[in-house]
Amino acid sequence: MKRIAGFIFVLALAATAQAQQDFSKVEVTVTKVAGPVSMLQGAGGNIGVSAGDDGVLIVDDQYAPLAPKIKAAIRTITDKPIRLVVNTHYHGDHTGGNEFFGSEATIIAQENVRKRLASGSTALGNSVPPAAHGALPIVTFENSVSIHLNGEEVRAVFFPHGHTDGDCVIFFTKSNVVHMGDDFFNGMFPFIDVDNGGSVMGMIAADDKVLSTLRDDAKVIPGHGALSDKAGLAAFSKMLKGTSAIVAKAVKEGTTPAQLKAQKAFAEWDSWGQGFVKADFFIDMLYADLSRK
Ligand SMILES: [Zn+2]
Repeated sequence: MKRIAGFIFVLALAATAQAQQDFSKVEVTVTKVAGPVSMLQGAGGNIGVSAGDDGVLIVDDQYAPLAPKIKAAIRTITDKPIRLVVNTHYHGDHTGGNEFFGSEATIIAQENVRKRLASGSTALGNSVPPAAHGALPIVTFENSVSIHLNGEEVRAVFFPHGHTDGDCVIFFTKSNVVHMGDDFFNGMFPFIDVDNGGSVMGMIAADDKVLSTLRDDAKVIPGHGALSDKAGLAAFSKMLKGTSAIVAKAVKEGTTPAQLKAQKAFAEWDSWGQGFVKADFFIDMLYADLSRK
């Protein structure tokens, strides 16, 4: 059962999801966040949009078949050109629209994102083919990059070994908004791509670092789930600490994943299993992560 859940989830990450999912029924919705920043939701990762006099910047672009709908949703906000795309990480549910938007916009990402898109990757035994040339980021950065647009500094900052090995968090500094990419799944157990440099400890470190810099009234866009805030991100970090402590102890004491599942070790976090990642799959993921030498 867990293998099937994992397999389906990875399909959802991969470009091959295009063949599996009926995108014709997906509606792309627009939520105003603050200042020039909005959030778009359809299928796949949440999209951050800065729209103003200088033009449009988008953070992530979901799946390729949704790109025209995403563009149409942006057109309900502004007629200005789409100038920049920032990818939070390489997964196909965040970069699938790159080729479409890359024909008019400059794609920016952390250097490991470009490497993984260019080479293809394997997660949970499923391979993702290399991305098309036109889908590759043109500008890459190692630690951070600042974009000056629509009256504010938009800063993309690299956080190593969290959800993947190439995650960045985007700070809309004047609007008091942050896009967390998949270092934050709101109210859900996250996927952690341990095959591609991800780790729960890096994810916790990223979340806590961001929390330490956020104002109490900041708006927080998660990679998946509803628009959130500082309290929502803090609750996610607390869940990660609680669940990973249980699994770390089990690894140390030789308790198996099957025993943890039989014990319902994550019962306290029952409601977090409503997303793609169920409790049993999350136990396996954390176990694989925390038992690595
Ligand atoms: Zn992801």
